[in-house]
Amino acid sequence: MATISAEERQAIRDAIRKICADFPDSYWRSIDAKGEYPQAFVDALTARGYLAALIPEEYGGAGLGITEAGIILEEINHSPGNGLACHAQMYTMGTLLRHGSAEQKRRYLPKIAGGELRLQAFAVTEPDAGSETTRLTTRAVRQGGKYIVNGQKIFISRAKQSDLMLLLARTTPYEELKDKTDGLSVFLLDMRDIAGKLDIQPLDMMFNHHTNVLFFENVEIPVENRIGEEGRGFRYIIDGWNAERILIASEAIGDGRWFVERAAKYASERVVFGKPIGANQGVQFPIARSYAHVEAAARMRDAAAEKFDRGEKCGAEANMAKLLASDAAWEAANACLDAHGGYGFAREFDVERKFRETRLYMTAPISNNLVLAFLGQNVLGMPKSY
Ligand SMILES: Cc1cc2nc3c(=O)[nH]c(=O)nc-3n(C[C@H](O)[C@H](O)[C@H](O)COP(=O)(O)OP(=O)(O)OC[C@H]3O[C@@H](n4cnc5c(N)ncnc54)[C@H](O)[C@@H]3O)c2cc1C
Repeated sequence: MATISAEERQAIRDAIRKICADFPDSYWRSIDAKGEYPQAFVDALTARGYLAALIPEEYGGAGLGITEAGIILEEINHSPGNGLACHAQMYTMGTLLRHGSAEQKRRYLPKIAGGELRLQAFAVTEPDAGSETTRLTTRAVRQGGKYIVNGQKIFISRAKQSDLMLLLARTTPYEELKDKTDGLSVFLLDMRDIAGKLDIQPLDMMFNHHTNVLFFENVEIPVENRIGEEGRGFRYIIDGWNAERILIASEAIGDGRWFVERAAKYASERVVFGKPIGANQGVQFPIARSYAHVEAAARMRDAAAEKFDRGEKCGAEANMAKLLASDAAWEAANACLDAHGGYGFAREFDVERKFRETRLYMTAPISNNLVLAFLGQNVLGMPKSY
């Protein structure tokens, strides 16, 4: 990974701000109202190579670190936009990069880097397993040179906006395992090959998110599309969790800054009882408090990203960053909504849209309860709840 100077990081931040300036409030409001995928925005980022930030240069990517990827997503959410539509194109390939064969990497990464292939669907969650990933039941049974997959996944985002899907499926029945973290395998499923056998049903969500229920019926995956060893899939997926936590924290920080800035501006301009409402401590202090919490979360995210980019263990920092940033963004969202009074609920002010969007970060890709359980059990050594 190349060494990136402070000036280069600022240049990345400025470049993302410039792209986002072409996609104002009205664009995102209209996309939200119609439930559309923000294709024009994603195309603009793809064309300039930003979604290939984490792909090494030898495969046609930018070879940047998690710090820079975080800046990109933070600035998208700091604008009226939202990185959820495209963040997975940045980091889902991490499992392929770390655990794929030389042939798999050569075959897929350059096309993912160039945007010819979209790998932004990541299928883990199941209705009956939920947060307990080791209980998932979607079954991949080997038959000669292929696996036959049957089962169901839920909340799988962007399956219709993706060519490839990273799939975690069971290759050994749970009852036959000594270690419950064994028995799952990761596959790179080419969805262009299996039309008809994978039923994708959209889920109507609280905000504009392209999430689906998937039904696998005898879906065939060639053995050469398994990533790494059979039965090691859960560990491969875990390897990507710290990066994901840092990037999710970055999006929440971007949202938090958007809410704080909008709230401070509105509270300074809106006059009631003969003075700006922001002069009242009941309005001003919640905004100032959430500002402090967003900036504190940003420092923790920076600490996690620096350790990650140095190749050091960063599980504690990455989890704390995700927890603090999602909580702070939600606090800022509430302060912003309160400051706007009734106008906060009017769609044309965009606060209610961002409010709906930012709530997700407390729940997905992992709920904050499980983040607290990681800190309590894995960092502080307290007894396990599961
Ligand atoms: C918009 C959206 C997009 C998503 N996209 C994807 C995707 O692309 N791919 C994918 O695989 N998944 C995706 N998910 C799923 C997401 O990762 C899960 O919703 C999340 O991990 C929680 O799982 P669950 O919903 O089954 O909740 P459950 O596991 O049923 O948990 C419900 C509640 O109980 C709490 N809880 C459970 N066990 C414990 C415990 N031991 N201690 C304390 N509290 C506990 C949880 O914290 C949570 O608050 C998405 C979800 C949403 C909402």
